[in-house]
Formats: sequence, structure tokens, C-alpha cells
Amino acid sequence: MADGLDALRAQIDALDSEILDSLARRAETVERVRALKSDLGREMHDPMRAASHIRDLVARSEGSLPAHVVERVFGEIHDAMLGVMRGGADRYASGPLGGARRTFSLAGTEVGRRAFWIAGPCSVESAEQISGVAADLGRLGVKMLRGGAFKPRTSPASFQGLGLRGLILLREAADANGMAVVTEAVDERSLESVVEYADVVQIGTRNAQNYALLRSAGAAGLPVLLKRGFGSTIREWLGAAEYVAAAGCDRIVLCERGIRTFETETRATLDISSVSVVRELAGLPVVVDVSHAAGRKDILVDLSRASFAVGAAGVMVEVHPNPPAALSDGQQQLTPLEFAAAASDVAASVERAP
Ligand code: PEP
Ligand code: MN
Repeated sequence: MADGLDALRAQIDALDSEILDSLARRAETVERVRALKSDLGREMHDPMRAASHIRDLVARSEGSLPAHVVERVFGEIHDAMLGVMRGGADRYASGPLGGARRTFSLAGTEVGRRAFWIAGPCSVESAEQISGVAADLGRLGVKMLRGGAFKPRTSPASFQGLGLRGLILLREAADANGMAVVTEAVDERSLESVVEYADVVQIGTRNAQNYALLRSAGAAGLPVLLKRGFGSTIREWLGAAEYVAAAGCDRIVLCERGIRTFETETRATLDISSVSVVRELAGLPVVVDVSHAAGRKDILVDLSRASFAVGAAGVMVEVHPNPPAALSDGQQQLTPLEFAAAASDVAASVERAP
């Protein structure tokens, strides 16, 4: 009995070796296809061909294997080989993100070279609120002013933002203090206004896989700050960035803002490792939004320190003149005074902080 088992196992080992040899030959052939396509200037990936090829294989197997097994095995082989086609580990470098800039200048800040803060209220609420906080932040050396004019809220009954009026107030407040405007577009309609008034288009976590909006934002001519979807893997986030890049944007900033886990002490779970992983995979500048990750203000200094320490290009933080009276996210916003203290704590303890 035991001999029989060993013999069968040996047969499986031999079959696996054959499969391995076949895969190696397949990879070599894929490499030749890649070189030829590159000479001919042809698109590397042809999803229609891949799908029809797998259908043919299902038909050819004539029931010797269940269709879902053939689909799954060849689907995996195909995806893995696509990596070879795009240049192995350098998949992102040879895809649309290969053309994205690693550094660029924005409001006098060399994004990707010098660490920076993006600060401002969750929502633009009034002229007094935004002009006051912008003046305070400007005095502290902050060059990028954030503030939502179009707010993606969980409930339709919550404050939805001042819309166009909010954008105008934000622009005026930024101009009065020599700052750049970073603000969210929630759909293609708001994108048109955002493009008119902002310096950076923010795509929020809820829209992180809205591919139509990603394409439009990518084609809008401004830098795009792309938040990570709270349920997105790093690869899905980079896929979203590829949409933005493929539409023509070469100034992309990725923004880690925490993901949803079982943890409830914080609003989201800050995935600090994503900063290193993304820099390794795609080399794009990453900003960490500590406010939406934490959902509370007492740990923002720690999270900011951690972010700069792992190489974040910048940190986004919500600052409001009177957080208890804020129309959104009051619990997590710092006052300008608290921000000033936090920024100096972070600068004192992390070498590459702003
Ligand atoms: C924001 O930055 O205003 C915001 C809504 O963030 P997120 O999309 O990460 O929730
Ligand atoms: Mn907020």
C-alpha cells in the first residue's frame, strides 16, 4: 500500500516537473512576444485574446477537467505571465505609471523631495472659517491648504459642503496666503469646478475605484491626489493610479488614509507599511492622511512621526478654528494652536519632517 502511494507521489512529482518545464518555455515565448510587440509598437496586453484563448482551452479539455479548474489555472498562468510581459517586477515602471513624475513642484514645494504638510478643515464652512484658518496655517509655513467644498458624506442628511461657493472661498483664502488648494471632486460635474479653482484634484476613498471619474481626473491637467480606497489592496490602489496615469496625468500623489479592519479604537487602520511598499513598487510620492486614519486627535503626532519616518512625502491633517462647532469630523480636527504644537513636536523628533 505504502509503496503504491510513494509511486503515485513520484508520478505527481514527475508531472509537476514537466509542467514547470512547460511554464519556463511559455515564459521564454512570452518574452519573445514582448520584444516583438515592443518593436512593432503594439499594446502589450490583449484581454480579448486572453479570454477567448481560455475559452478555447475549456473546449479542448472536453470535460477531462471541470471548466472552472481550467479557467482558474490558465487565468493564473496568464496573469503571472503578464508580469513577464511587462518586464517582471518592474510591472508598474513599464505600465502607465512609468511616465509619472517622481518629483514635481507645487506652490514652491518640491513634492517628492521636501517633506510638507497639507492642512485645513474637513469642510469649507464660511468665509471667516476658511480665511482665518488659512491665515494661521500660512503663518506656520503650510503651503497646501485642504478643505472640502463637495463632501462625500455617509448620510444624505449630513452637511454636503458649500459646493461652488466653498471652492471660491477656498481659492481666495489660499491666494491671500500664497498657498495651493487641494480639494475633492466627488463626481464628474464637481470635477469641472474643482479644476477651475484648485491646484490639486483630490479623489476620495469612496471614489477610489470609480474608474470613469479616475479617467476624467487624470485627463483634467492638474496633479491628482489619489486616496486609497478603505477596502482596496495596495495593488488595487495602484491599479486606480494607473487609470489616472493612462488618462494623461503625470503628477500623481498617492494618499494612504487607513483601511477598514476589525479595529474600532481608530476610525480606520493606518497601513503604514503601504508607504514603503508603494514607493518600492511604483516610486510615486505618498502622502499620509493621519486625520481620517485615526478619527481622533490624540494620536496624530505619533502617526505623523511614523509617516515621515517611513518616507512619506507629506502628511495631511485636518485643522479647524473651532473643532467642536465643525459641520463635519469635529472629533478629529486640531485647532491651529494644536497643529502648531504638533508640527513642532514632529519636526523636533523626525529628521525628515517639514
Ligand atoms: C477628505 O479628505 O475630506 C475625505 C473625505 O477623506 P477620505 O476620502 O479619505 O474619507
Ligand atoms: Mn474629514
